[in-house]
Amino acid sequence: MPQDRDFEKAIDIVTQWIINYRIKVADFPVLSRSKPGETLDALPEHAPETSESFENVFADFEKLIIPGITHWQHPKFFGYFPSNASPPSVLAEMLIAALGVQCMSWATSPAATELEIRVVEWLRDLLGIPSVFTGVIQESASNSVLAAMVAAREKATQFTVNENGYGDFKLTAYCSAEAHSSIEKAAKVIGIGRNFLRKIPVDHDQRMRVDLLEKAIEEDIQNGLTPFFVVGAFGTTGTTAVDDLAAIANVVSKHGLWFHVDAAYAGAALVLPEIRARAQGIEKADSIVVNPHKWLLTNFDCSVFLVRDRAILIQAFEILPEYLKTSEDEVVTNLRDWGLGLGRRFRALKLWFVLRWYGASGIQKMIRHHISLARQLETWISENAAFELVARQPFNLVVFRLRKDDQANLELMRSLNESGKLFLTHTKLDGGIVLRLVIGQTDVQKHHVLEAWNEIQKAAANNWIK
Ligand SMILES: *Cc1c(COP(=O)(O)O)cnc(C)c1O
Repeated sequence: MPQDRDFEKAIDIVTQWIINYRIKVADFPVLSRSKPGETLDALPEHAPETSESFENVFADFEKLIIPGITHWQHPKFFGYFPSNASPPSVLAEMLIAALGVQCMSWATSPAATELEIRVVEWLRDLLGIPSVFTGVIQESASNSVLAAMVAAREKATQFTVNENGYGDFKLTAYCSAEAHSSIEKAAKVIGIGRNFLRKIPVDHDQRMRVDLLEKAIEEDIQNGLTPFFVVGAFGTTGTTAVDDLAAIANVVSKHGLWFHVDAAYAGAALVLPEIRARAQGIEKADSIVVNPHKWLLTNFDCSVFLVRDRAILIQAFEILPEYLKTSEDEVVTNLRDWGLGLGRRFRALKLWFVLRWYGASGIQKMIRHHISLARQLETWISENAAFELVARQPFNLVVFRLRKDDQANLELMRSLNESGKLFLTHTKLDGGIVLRLVIGQTDVQKHHVLEAWNEIQKAAANNWIK
């Protein structure tokens, strides 16, 4: 049996490895070159019968696992959205694992619940969101929108669906055609049916057509359906487009619906006062989600979910079997009642470490730095006639394309990603392929962006530019 002194030795190996990984991450190919089934085939079919030395396990971690890893912390990881694991969040994660607490009830770790309450307030204030909102840290924005939809459903049906199911209710929800797939997933999960999530067309800036939203709601009412839930986006996943939240809020309040703002990614930029005017109307939301686990330097998972009226959320989710009752239930907050999970990770510790390590000014500086690098890249792209910029937004995502067909753009992306030197992803815009390059890594510097742009130009010049 491994003993505690083995743990001491092993933890030294692991911490040393983590320190070196952070230094050397840029030497790895960003995208894993592993082929389908390669890792699986290298792993024995059965768990070991007897104890193995940690040295053996760790050697296999390096030999079998690392080659199958895509390096999300690589400074030239420009794909999807970043999932930053900054140093303070890594430190907190180690402590969270060591403590191994479940934060379902106040009594199961009072400090965990109370720290969660406090850091969520800190973040809310840092983002300029009004103090009527209180919140909780969920695993993901997908869980957050699911929780919002359940609360909205119960409000709209006077808490009868929780008791008796849908009965005669036919609920309808609304988001833009550019909204995140998690909203459709939530519509499937809560059982309104995804065809009853109306995907409202967008304008040429990928913003929801609010006139069409209103029309859709009115049509549904006329047809005997019950509209209940509208999502506005502050930063869509495809292009970080921002819906007109104030106009949506007007329509929503006219019909008494629930207004959820999906600021999962770009919400991080609200730490900058100069960005806040773009979020006008967010203060009218019933719920808001912002993921510190994307751009706010906190490793996955940490999704902050804010609600205006927590009583509705709690009534929708509250459950109190005898074995969970504690003598403090009257006076404390039990965060298990704020969403789906009973067991809850101690995520607040990560956000607390991050906010204190960088301070508000350090975080603002980093976000401004990323945004300015994105503007710099846009300038370079605009100087090369072989490329065009599309869907420009004030955040750190640059959307562009080679002035060739879709195939050429996809091949350009594939060749760059296979080179291992950088990683970027694509999306479809108005039916055509565009490339997305997000500059949001903890350690990204101007030279990384310039090197990436040079690689892109070189690959294009070798293959598509005569
Ligand atoms: C990433 C993203 C989500 C989903 O986030 P998860 O935390 O991974 O569920 C939702 N909405 C937007 C706008 C996103 O960018």
